[in-house]
Amino acid sequence: MSGGHYVVFARKWRPQTFDDVVGQEHITRTIQNAIATGRIPHAFLFIGSRGVGKTTTARIIAKALNCLSSDGPTVQPCMTCDNCRSISDGNNMDVIEIDAASNNGVDDIREIRENVRLVPSRSRYKVYIIDEVHQLSSGAFNALLKTLEEPPAHAIFILATTEAHKVPATIISRCQRFDFRRVALPQICALLRSILDKEGVKCTDEALQAIARAAEGGVRDAESILDQLVSYCSGEITFKDVFDVLGLVDWQVMHDLCDAIVAKDIGRQLELIENIVFAGKDLTQFVQDILRYFRNLLVCKAGGAKILLALPDSEVAAMQTRAEQFTLTHLIRLVEQFAELTKGFDSQLAQRIALETLLIRLSKRAVEISVDTVLEKVMMLGESAVMADTPVSSNPAAAYTQEAPVAYKSGAPSPAKRIHVDTNNLEAAWAVIFEKVTEDQLALRFHLTNAKPAAVEGGVLVLRFPAQSAQARVSLDKPEHRRRIEDILAAITDNLTTFRCEITEGEPAPELAPPTERIPHGARVSSDDARAALKDPHVASVVDTFKGEITAVNPPRHHE
Ligand SMILES: [Zn+2]
Repeated sequence: MSGGHYVVFARKWRPQTFDDVVGQEHITRTIQNAIATGRIPHAFLFIGSRGVGKTTTARIIAKALNCLSSDGPTVQPCMTCDNCRSISDGNNMDVIEIDAASNNGVDDIREIRENVRLVPSRSRYKVYIIDEVHQLSSGAFNALLKTLEEPPAHAIFILATTEAHKVPATIISRCQRFDFRRVALPQICALLRSILDKEGVKCTDEALQAIARAAEGGVRDAESILDQLVSYCSGEITFKDVFDVLGLVDWQVMHDLCDAIVAKDIGRQLELIENIVFAGKDLTQFVQDILRYFRNLLVCKAGGAKILLALPDSEVAAMQTRAEQFTLTHLIRLVEQFAELTKGFDSQLAQRIALETLLIRLSKRAVEISVDTVLEKVMMLGESAVMADTPVSSNPAAAYTQEAPVAYKSGAPSPAKRIHVDTNNLEAAWAVIFEKVTEDQLALRFHLTNAKPAAVEGGVLVLRFPAQSAQARVSLDKPEHRRRIEDILAAITDNLTTFRCEITEGEPAPELAPPTERIPHGARVSSDDARAALKDPHVASVVDTFKGEITAVNPPRHHE
């Protein structure tokens, strides 16, 4: 920060050599090899989001090609000769930088075409760096294509874009393509730390991580935020400073909102939103903050590593306490709903969180199914309500008879691809069988959810059920269910033809409170009726899932 005028970090600490470029080693290594072996393409296409080093790398290539301290192109430009210095400063007459956003017409490219024929004045190569190349008009693309088809030996084109899909395939096929990545959090942190050390500025690790996180993988964004913070803070930069400067909402507000959601306190929730709006915060940003907050709760709940949170220890503890107050399913739902709200924001964060949530959802399938299936089940039961001690097999509920006929035989895989199931792969094989059998089969999914593959005895798959799922065995013996399962076993395994159900004896139903606790005082039901109703595992799981109570037991209706 010495000298007469202030230079922003992104310019002051702009990488000058290939080794300085952060997070794009896969690209800089390839380019260095190309230069070292003399196989330099006439056209490069740099693809990647803004501020990840595309133009910087282009300038380094220009220096490597034109450095006057070596006899030919070099991977180690000297940084001191006239060419190296003028290219770094952006005023070398043989390195032409064009912003296609503002020079996108045919005439602009035609000017390049005429100019490109002239030999470079003080360099080996004329280097054309066309930024945001996707913004060229179609006429300009055609003109550019003609140049790329027969470039003079001394011309090198470096095209950079954030939106590769808008660049015509004819152009792309003429270029060597390089995909720049968003830079990983630890690499951005390390870069920022080295800048701060050189600047003699102190900053906590949590603050640094918050900056890097806000930059979403963009080096230039990270450096700009750091710039703002250095101007803002007199002493050490702290986590709170980052929140203030970025206009983020204080995490205490997030905690308050979370607590209000747990308490279902709508008044408090609206009051918090009112405060945010009153404080002039950006609501788009606020929704993203909420999304990030609940994503962090989800990470806590799903047992994710602390490093995924990148928060101070005190914050992690506060998050964990709150995560305890939600079920995993509830958190997944919340995150998905907030993510839905950010659709169209086009944020890297929203995309990442949607993906993470899907993965957690997939890997915690059982959790998901127990709630969703019970929900569906309640709808299927409809008016017929709950019936005590009535086996499902005698229940003519329409859902059971309307299921699609088994259609597996025609589409069965060839025998060579069938699985041989034994004790070693039983779990994995069961996962496949389960998915096939329960595809679009709500009732089967419901009954098989608690089944564990216990053994293979000859051609028989032994399934074990907990005691409270005794009902499942009755249902699975229904001819259409048995036939479907057997057909699928025959289709995807080479040794199983049928199955048998076993009940695990003597295991009390877990997590089910004694039935009497659920019966409200003064309900219009005899406690005997309610107790009897709760013996039905369907009823029990509905009551359990919704933390409900039995208020009435109606006799079954007669279906004609
Ligand atoms: Zn040089």
